[in-house]
Amino acid sequence: MAIIRKAACPLNCWDSCGLQVTIENGKVVKVEGDPDHPITKGKICGRGRMLVDRTNSSKRLLHPLKKINGQFVEISWDQALDEIAGKLKEIKTRFGTTAVLHSHDYANNGILKNLDQRFFNCYGGVTELYGSLCWGAGIEAQNWDFGGAYSHEPNDIYHSKNIVIWGRNVARTNMHFYEQLLKAKKLGAKLYVINPLYNAPAKLADDFITIKPGMDGLLAAGIMKEILRLGLEDRTFIEQFTYGFTDLVQLLNEMTIAQISEMTEIPAELITKLAYVYADKPTSTYMGLGMQRYRNGGNTIRLIDALVAISGNIGIPGGGANYANTQVGQSFAFEELTMPNRRQAHRQFSIMKQAENVLTATNPEIKMIVVTCGNPLTQVPDSSIVEKAFTSVDTLVVMEQYMTDTARLADYVLPITTAFEEEDFYYASMYHHYVNYGPKLVSAPGEAKPDLWVWTQLAERLGFGQDFQFTRKEWLEMTLKPLAKHGLSLESLIEQHTMELPVAKIPWHDRKFKTPSGKFEFTSLLAQQKGENGKLTLALPDESKWSKPDLADKYPYNLLTIHPMRSNHSQNYHLLGGKVKLKVEIAQNIADELSLQNGDYVRVWNDRGEVKGYISILPAAHPNTINIDEGIWQEFGGSVNLLTSNKESDNGLGSTLYDCLVNLERIPLNE
Ligand code: SF4
Repeated sequence: MAIIRKAACPLNCWDSCGLQVTIENGKVVKVEGDPDHPITKGKICGRGRMLVDRTNSSKRLLHPLKKINGQFVEISWDQALDEIAGKLKEIKTRFGTTAVLHSHDYANNGILKNLDQRFFNCYGGVTELYGSLCWGAGIEAQNWDFGGAYSHEPNDIYHSKNIVIWGRNVARTNMHFYEQLLKAKKLGAKLYVINPLYNAPAKLADDFITIKPGMDGLLAAGIMKEILRLGLEDRTFIEQFTYGFTDLVQLLNEMTIAQISEMTEIPAELITKLAYVYADKPTSTYMGLGMQRYRNGGNTIRLIDALVAISGNIGIPGGGANYANTQVGQSFAFEELTMPNRRQAHRQFSIMKQAENVLTATNPEIKMIVVTCGNPLTQVPDSSIVEKAFTSVDTLVVMEQYMTDTARLADYVLPITTAFEEEDFYYASMYHHYVNYGPKLVSAPGEAKPDLWVWTQLAERLGFGQDFQFTRKEWLEMTLKPLAKHGLSLESLIEQHTMELPVAKIPWHDRKFKTPSGKFEFTSLLAQQKGENGKLTLALPDESKWSKPDLADKYPYNLLTIHPMRSNHSQNYHLLGGKVKLKVEIAQNIADELSLQNGDYVRVWNDRGEVKGYISILPAAHPNTINIDEGIWQEFGGSVNLLTSNKESDNGLGSTLYDCLVNLERIPLNE
């Protein structure tokens, strides 16, 4: 008999949906939306529905595997754990614990997935990654400007007179927000979409502003220039609640509107129009993650923050510089869970340059890499170096559900449970502020085990088993401790399935910023404390005709690598059925110049590598723009990160995945 249980989507996605899962004969047979979830209200996307396949697929890894003479061989859990623990012990004695690199990402938003950090801290402290491939430059930018990257609660959008969706395809990545846009428009809000690609939100817009990729910060500077020229700024806010305004004014004098118009490829009159939009408060700004994946990424977000600030749209209902909502994740007891105080040694590599650093590390060299919740072979930039690095170490351990590109390179592959096979709770620090409970619904197939079980077993073998002697309920209660004073508990979460977290719904409404000056900072004192000069700049992407004209002659097209529609990063490509083909989406002018038709087979290349795929023409994309969705596996023509650069953003914490010039040519199909 079928039963229906409430659950939670585990995917690292803006929406963090509540689910309703149908189980029949011990199997998950259907995944739908939970109609009682206060934000996601019963609607989910195709990626969520595919959790059925993700759970049941015959491609699941069912047994621990060891590579012997280039071939994977099934081994017992005891053998796998004994051998891995033995290697960890030996490395600790001979080279020190930092000879182990923990390479991780965020494939699953379960809170207990963070216990990998506890394990490595108790082991003694390993080489960890810092920064983020995804949103790091923007988070750091808002830490500098506001003292935190906080967004308005979702329903606040209905207070906006104007809504600016800047570099964010909410129809693809944040579907419930897209629904809210439709409603806000019906209620009379005006919608402005700024993007190099003409996407679904652009179709709804009162004005679609097509922009040269990477030039968003310059556009914000141009709008600010116009606001100041026209006297539209919020003088009270600037004078009472900001720091460094004189530096900003000086910066804006460095370029004319004509220059900004030329470089952004946006007509000057449209820049002036946007100045009036920002002055016609409340205007909310919703920023995407793509536009900060450039060398100038931190400055881009900071310039947009500055625009929101001078127009007086901070801390008011219907306003906000909405980028991420990290106050959600800050609600939980991370330190108690992860025990950073147990580290005796510590080394950090930037997540972008992890491969390069593996190849060059000394004192100690990297001897072992352990991969959790990630697939660096497809997701980390400059994939050729990643492959070289991950095959260069003595031991690569990958904890996975499927034989991904990274798992294929491993010495040990440990089969891990999916979300419906373990109890956890889930949240996302991007959009809404509700946490969802995910019960264990079905048994795991084969010998797949929760990673918590793996850490516990390894900890026992390594002599710190007592640090993992907790039941799942106890772990979950531990993480929720800070919420007890608000009357929130695991018991209530289990009972209600979703729980509202006590975060600020209109961040900065009290004008008390968490910066060193207590004000919004145009010039960042936090950055200065870190040894930077802290001033905003009109920085450009690393790869553009303005910064590297010779490179732009050779590689005239901007490559974007946006989030795929049907896969959460690399997670679903192997489940999509049929032969997935790498799609090369190009602007109309490229098709015209190279006489390309839809379906033509092409090579896309630069100095870092090449990929091959099939043309799809995007008639309304910004000229000279190409998109190849990220996450695609080698067997389907990927990874597109063969082309991307592993440089870091200006503030050191973000990637430059979109800062990428390429060339393209048609090739015969059999090449
Ligand atoms: S992937 Fe995102 S939108 Fe889709 S079901 Fe999961 S949380 Fe919801």
